[in-house]
Amino acid sequence: IARSEILEFCESKSSQNDIGGLKLLKTWLKQRYRAFSKEAQEYGLPIPKGVLLVGPQGTGKSLTAKSISESWSMPLLRLDVGRLFSSLVGSSEARTRETISRAEAMSPCILWIDEIDKGFGGDARSDGGTSQRVLASLLTWMAEKESAVFVIATANAIDKLPAELLRKGRFDEIFFLDLPNSEERLSILDLHLKKRRPSYSFPLSTIIDRTDGYSGAELEQAVIEGMHFSFSENRELMEKDLIKAVSELVPLSRTAKEQID
Ligand code: ATP
Repeated sequence: IARSEILEFCESKSSQNDIGGLKLLKTWLKQRYRAFSKEAQEYGLPIPKGVLLVGPQGTGKSLTAKSISESWSMPLLRLDVGRLFSSLVGSSEARTRETISRAEAMSPCILWIDEIDKGFGGDARSDGGTSQRVLASLLTWMAEKESAVFVIATANAIDKLPAELLRKGRFDEIFFLDLPNSEERLSILDLHLKKRRPSYSFPLSTIIDRTDGYSGAELEQAVIEGMHFSFSENRELMEKDLIKAVSELVPLSRTAKEQID
């Protein structure tokens, strides 16, 4: 299975402690994890189906997928939707069925459908209905699924997703991962600093005030840029390095806004 081109086995070293913010999502995931237990089954709870995570780039969707795999000790299989499609008649549906059985054979496991909006968000008429048929078989499987394959689908834009995907009975829940607020930015920045400079001791409030609109990925990038400044001067990282890094980094949200304005 590791060599399959459609399903890729992902290594993960991130745990849920590596995620800053996203409290509701983390609490929900903990609760769902318990539903895989024998006690929960005996109690009459169904095996969780999965979750859809929607949000802008760099807000921790992939990180969440990886951390669940690590925290739940279940293998993570990443499905590249684009590779399900073949130009041969009937072949895409066959690939989909095969991929599903491969995932089921690995259960309990996490099936991560990355960029599901790219795979199914296009114009259905342009491919002779193939993407619709592939989506339909995936959704039927999800609706009927009783195996311990927890599906995490990630997407950037909800408006590009077909309505069938959002209907009840497919995913247990849909979470919108927004750009982090100031409290979340503080915890994300602190996490990334502690990972690399465990004994840092400068205040973060000025930096937090200047990072409205920054994603988690951009905050991490600012930490690394700041460390480049201090390293090039052979000294410890200081508050001013991060302030400089933050002032030089233009977050994607700002670029996108400028394009609209
Ligand atoms: P994309 O839509 O581009 O795939 P994504 O939402 O999947 O983006 P990630 O790949 O999870 O974003 O984020 C990239 C990196 O940014 C993560 O590996 C992590 O280091 C950092 N990061 C993003 N969000 C958070 C967060 N909430 N807490 C801690 N780190 C974060």
